[in-house]
Amino acid sequence: KVVCVTGASGYIASWLVKLLLQHGYTVKATVRDPNDPKKTEHLLTLDGAKERLHLLKADLLEEGSFDSVVDGCEGVFHTASPFYHKVTDPQAELIDPAVKGTLNVLRSCAKVQSIKRVVLTSSMVAVAFNGKPLAPDVVIDETWFSNAAVCEKSKLWYMLSKTLAEEDAWKFAKENAIDMVAINPGLVIGPFLQPTLNTSVETVLKLVNGAERFPNITYRLVDVRDVANAHILAFENPSASGRYCLVGRVMHSSEVLKILHELFPDLNLPEKCADDKPFVPIYLVSKERAESLGLNFTPVEVSLKDTVESLKEKNFLS
Ligand code: NDP
Repeated sequence: KVVCVTGASGYIASWLVKLLLQHGYTVKATVRDPNDPKKTEHLLTLDGAKERLHLLKADLLEEGSFDSVVDGCEGVFHTASPFYHKVTDPQAELIDPAVKGTLNVLRSCAKVQSIKRVVLTSSMVAVAFNGKPLAPDVVIDETWFSNAAVCEKSKLWYMLSKTLAEEDAWKFAKENAIDMVAINPGLVIGPFLQPTLNTSVETVLKLVNGAERFPNITYRLVDVRDVANAHILAFENPSASGRYCLVGRVMHSSEVLKILHELFPDLNLPEKCADDKPFVPIYLVSKERAESLGLNFTPVEVSLKDTVESLKEKNFLS
């Protein structure tokens, strides 16, 4: 079976490509620069890559760039989208590649008969930002949709980019009879295959190397291997549909700190969390739909341990 992964060099996509190759798929993987070894070497050395991985050049903002890539594929995993919080021009840096890029990929998919399903990598940021108050008895689930106006008012540009991209993707998929499933992960952590840092792993690095204090915030954590696995389950299970929130644990940073202390007593970690303001409330995210796919969430202790070990192994942390 032939499938396509967009943005294959990224953190989540690299794991997805690895697992797809392990499952015996032939993978057409898009990158913006196939000649940059930092983006490709870790993919080319994966088991099965020599035989079944094809690296192809494509750009989200180039009209028709994905036409020939998706041609002949049964599945398309659209993961490519910029994930940064610090931007100077949110429209050009985040919103256009996310929204126009997603529609660009879907337009290519609409032209191809062989495609059975498109799996879109959306995010919990397209689910949770709707202004509803959070509290310990609140359960966020797939019926929630972030509100673009709420994101815009608070200048949450990445959140806005993912919300608009998913909204437009559903509209286009419905109008063009594309079978689409969305995967909505929380903050993704766990070991990384690529040599560079992505934004979510960098968040952990900044906490453990002291660049940032443990802030008074709550994280929605999920392991990268679970995220990659969920993409494949969502493609392979014919009855999968709609959206799947992926959050293994909602945790306050003080709890993250406690686990890291226990796992890595040698790290120079602060004794406690940054401020004494009332804690941002813990709430829940439903696992029901994700577990119905057959997904078993990795314990957060394992994900944190493997993230820090990966950071050490790749010399981001001594
Ligand atoms: P990475 O930064 O590691 O990967 C992002 C990928 O998007 C890169 O491969 C990058 O390609 C590609 N990309 C960005 N802009 C363009 C463009 N204009 N044209 C083509 N490709 C482009 O991020 P993650 O792996 O963390 O994120 C992957 C997806 O998962 C994104 O859609 C993100 O929104 C989503 N997500 C991530 C979460 C997380 O915590 N990590 C949580 C929830 C959702 P290039 O290598 O060429 O730069």
